[in-house]
Amino acid sequence: MNLFFWINFTVSMMCFLFMIILNVAYFSKKNMNNIENKIYKTLVLVCDFILSFSFFQDVLFYLNIPNIVFQKLFSFVTSISILWLCIFTFYVFAISYEHNEKIYTYLKNNVNKILFGIFICNTILCISFFFMKYDGLVVDGGTITYASGPVPTIYTIILLSLILLSIFLIAIKKKYTSSKKLLPFYLILPVGIVAMIMMFVFPLFGTVQPLFTFIVFIMYHTIENPDMKLVNELTLAKDSAEKASQVKSEFLSSMSHELRTPLNAIIGLTEVSRTSTNIDDMHNDLNDIKISSLKLLELIDGILISNNIDNNTIEIYNSNYNLNDLLNNVINNTNTLLKGKNVELKTRITSDIPNALYGDKDKIKIVINNLLSNAVKYTDEGCIVFDVSGILMKDKYNLKISVSDTGHGISKEDLEHIFDRFYRSEENKDSDVEGTGLGLSITKSIVEMMDGNISVNSALGEGTTFTVTLNQKIVNENNDVETL
Ligand code: ADP
Repeated sequence: MNLFFWINFTVSMMCFLFMIILNVAYFSKKNMNNIENKIYKTLVLVCDFILSFSFFQDVLFYLNIPNIVFQKLFSFVTSISILWLCIFTFYVFAISYEHNEKIYTYLKNNVNKILFGIFICNTILCISFFFMKYDGLVVDGGTITYASGPVPTIYTIILLSLILLSIFLIAIKKKYTSSKKLLPFYLILPVGIVAMIMMFVFPLFGTVQPLFTFIVFIMYHTIENPDMKLVNELTLAKDSAEKASQVKSEFLSSMSHELRTPLNAIIGLTEVSRTSTNIDDMHNDLNDIKISSLKLLELIDGILISNNIDNNTIEIYNSNYNLNDLLNNVINNTNTLLKGKNVELKTRITSDIPNALYGDKDKIKIVINNLLSNAVKYTDEGCIVFDVSGILMKDKYNLKISVSDTGHGISKEDLEHIFDRFYRSEENKDSDVEGTGLGLSITKSIVEMMDGNISVNSALGEGTTFTVTLNQKIVNENNDVETL
């Protein structure tokens, strides 16, 4: 027996033993049920088959079996190698389209069918190979000479096409694919080229076995290692749980501070008015108690709304309402808040507002109140302009509400986050201005639920303008809602 045979036999044997260990490690653990894992599982099984079969082939070769039998066995191994390469290309395709939800979902739902299709095509190829000549392999007195023939030619063409297809896919989708997942592909190229050269120089040397074993091993450690995946997922879950708990405790501490301020005012003022004998003082105190109570109510409402938005339990309740009455109400509230401040409220309400509109007046009130109370909070001097206009259409009123102030303004960096829940700008976090960072996130969610839009324009130190646009149905004289 020639030296190559023994080298080949030893390599096959080592690969075989190595794959047994990898199989035990891989299949004894719980695996993720995702697309890559399903493909990887198939790659491992096909590799197992190739190794066992090659081992069997080596034994037959040792027993000096007739040439023709050996050639047919070789054709079979060749077609199974093509099967492995097709599945690997499918893997490259799947990870390249990971970013494309439509294609990825399709692949995910049909992975088993696609793998089955590859098997069927390969079986047809395998049967065709069986009837083709494999002239290259001549076992003569224990040696093999490598020449030409349809089987190795087809094999080379398919191999090169699959490699080119994979290179093309990676080239166009590289930026969407994690480089860690592509590592096996980057390795298969140089190692594959070396293996092919070896195959031509030393035909007796089975290069496919170590090549596939190596790639399967690399894939196990880069992408398919269930341990690593589980650890990653657990770390992500732990991080997000920690973040949620931190946000919750920050929210609780800021809430208790927020609730305490009006409550303390109510307790203090109640005590003062209880002992007061002057009826005017008592009247003022009671007025301030009312303001603090309203603030408390508003805060609790805010917490409840925010919670309902979280649980998706908030609903829009439409009814007929008078927008002018609603606007008068919010203007009165704002004037009360402005008491003692050197800020003027200017209102510009258009006169063409229809008598009755159909919509959720309570939600609209929350939206306007939030914007106006923020303008009051973040403006020390100057004015707040409350502008309400609209475009009358046949059956609806295209309402535009804007609140501009000459206040602190918002920096460019903060502008990106002000609609985020609990977000407060850096300056306001440490200032005396009280707030929870809930108002704008609630406002935005409500506006969007009503199919409206909210935008903001601001420059630090110059002021801010919030604009809300909403469509409200018009109620006609007969008290009917115009149908859209
Ligand atoms: P807060 O309770 O802190 O006012 P909001 O969600 O209503 O919470 O607002 C989020 C942040 O947006 C505020 O902390 C503030 O930094 C900024 N902000 C909102 N409205 C204005 C405004 N009119 N002028 C300046 N900054 C504003």
